[in-house]
Amino acid sequence: MPAINYSNWAFPSNAFARPNPPPEIAQIDSREGNSSATCGSNKKSLPELIANFILFVFPAVRYTFYVKLSLTFLGTGTSQGIPMIACDCPVCTSADPRDKRMRCSSLVSAGGRNILIDCTPELRLQCLTHKVERIDAVLITHTHADHIFGLDDLRRFNQLQNHPIPVYAMPDHIHRLDKLFGYARADRAGDNPDLPKLVFTPITGPFDLFGLNVNVFSLPHGQAQSTAFRLGPLGYCTDVSMVPDEVINAFLGVNVLVLGALRPEPHPAHLSLDQAVIIAQRIRADRTYLVHVNHHVSHACVEADLPDTIHLAYDGLNIVLNP
Ligand SMILES: [Zn+2]
Ligand SMILES: [Zn+2]
Ligand SMILES: [Zn+2]
Repeated sequence: MPAINYSNWAFPSNAFARPNPPPEIAQIDSREGNSSATCGSNKKSLPELIANFILFVFPAVRYTFYVKLSLTFLGTGTSQGIPMIACDCPVCTSADPRDKRMRCSSLVSAGGRNILIDCTPELRLQCLTHKVERIDAVLITHTHADHIFGLDDLRRFNQLQNHPIPVYAMPDHIHRLDKLFGYARADRAGDNPDLPKLVFTPITGPFDLFGLNVNVFSLPHGQAQSTAFRLGPLGYCTDVSMVPDEVINAFLGVNVLVLGALRPEPHPAHLSLDQAVIIAQRIRADRTYLVHVNHHVSHACVEADLPDTIHLAYDGLNIVLNP
């Protein structure tokens, strides 16, 4: 397996301090009189200083004990969810809880920060079910309804955290978000506590998110485009119809790969199970989890036939990534 460049996702020595907000958020903060002093002073406590010193001197300690990167699958189903409305097929009526799938999104947790990938219509239920109590940033793969129609529910986290939330997406997707959720922009929502306060932030290249290096790739999703992310040891790629060699190379040897795989049969806008397995075997992640499946996929039956390192994810599955 090719070596992973750890420096790509090294946490800075100030990983425990409040991260610098994007410039737009900083402006809003100052307009609302929310200096950083109200959310966390720049002064570090003695335990923080000691922890930062240890992390600086012993990087191995940093990766082993302090920066646990985990991923929770909040939803693993395709756009209609499983069970589908008014369907009595064996999967929609299955008693296996792994066959109950909300729309597709995940929560990446590291260093006390929660990064949400996609924001489904079931966000509220997902957060209640999995006890998600803060969201620090959102990455959007694309703007199909099943990936963004929970954005309004982020207002609860604005209230809890007293802070706008950055939402990162490619420029075309930001344009669409702005059309659909213009009322939720932090600079328009003002002081109204009932409105979400989001900062739509176009992705123009690799960027740093709370110390994690984020690389982005735009991939075909039928006639649309979906964004694949590499966050340190995690590759995340859903709703794509093909994965070009460039992206396979960029994901080579990741610890965990999350890959969309709709159903056994081919589909013009999604990878089939077979296509996803071939791509996963080329990327050679330590572990691959397939998501965004439809009701033609019985968890127990399909999981039993997958290669050893490739699994079907299911709602609520929590995994810890290795550096
Ligand atoms: Zn989708
Ligand atoms: Zn069904
Ligand atoms: Zn889609």
